[in-house]
Amino acid sequence: MPELPEVETIRRQLAPHLEGRALEAVEILDPRWTRPDPPRGVEAALRGRVVEAVSRSGKYLIWRLTGERYLLMHLRMTGALLFDPPSDPPHTRVRFALDGGHRLVYNDPRRFGTGHLVTGAEARDAYLTLRLGVEPMTPAFTAAYLREQARGRAAPVKSFVLDQRRIAGVGNIYADEALFRARIHPLRPAGSLRGAQFEALREAIEHALMAGIDAKGATIDDFRHVDGAQGSFQDLFCVHQREGKPCPECGTTIRKLVVGGRGTYVCERCQPRPRGRRRVVGRGAASAASGGEQL
Ligand SMILES: [Zn+2]
Repeated sequence: MPELPEVETIRRQLAPHLEGRALEAVEILDPRWTRPDPPRGVEAALRGRVVEAVSRSGKYLIWRLTGERYLLMHLRMTGALLFDPPSDPPHTRVRFALDGGHRLVYNDPRRFGTGHLVTGAEARDAYLTLRLGVEPMTPAFTAAYLREQARGRAAPVKSFVLDQRRIAGVGNIYADEALFRARIHPLRPAGSLRGAQFEALREAIEHALMAGIDAKGATIDDFRHVDGAQGSFQDLFCVHQREGKPCPECGTTIRKLVVGGRGTYVCERCQPRPRGRRRVVGRGAASAASGGEQL
């Protein structure tokens, strides 16, 4: 799934192509994209509007259009935007005809991606506030914020980091890489971290996300740039998808666990397993203990 660095990469590539251009026509081929809104109404509301700006919040791409309209796109598992592709890819869901003869195609094999059109900045903020917590790399993202959010939480810290309503934009790749950098075991109960570990976690999350943005995202699964090229952050992974390989810090073999249903990679020497009185309960812990694989 595209995470914050992948969506930011798309935004940076897309913005110069879209900003200032009019949407001459929009064809929504899959009604699931706009559900519950009927696609014909969304097509009509988009037609003729100019894209004023393309921004991002968490994993959402936000198109600001003339007339105070906002198109809020989430690519979910396999969504990709392609600018001026030579032909329509096989899972085309939406076609945007732009002025100047350009076109943008939204392709999504698994069809989980969404596009919602709202009117006014208040409606935009209401939509996003309901779904997103604090954005990393903003002043509100502090160790104190993380400590406050984690207080009393028995859930594994990996699940805490993945919760979009607490931290916006971090997914499975960057959570694994950040926890490795912060030397925190993914099964540690979030509420059991010590003071300095919240600062280490904050720093590690931002470091991992910035490294991902610098590498123009990670290409696993179907992630593609707007021009069809791929990112290279996968070449820099320390632990993610490196099961059986040596830890880059200490040489210990990297293990794969399942935490909260997600495949999770860890060096159990650099990231010591939680032990002692705090017994971790829950599905993630149980499947990790049995060496269970993610389905
Ligand atoms: Zn290690």
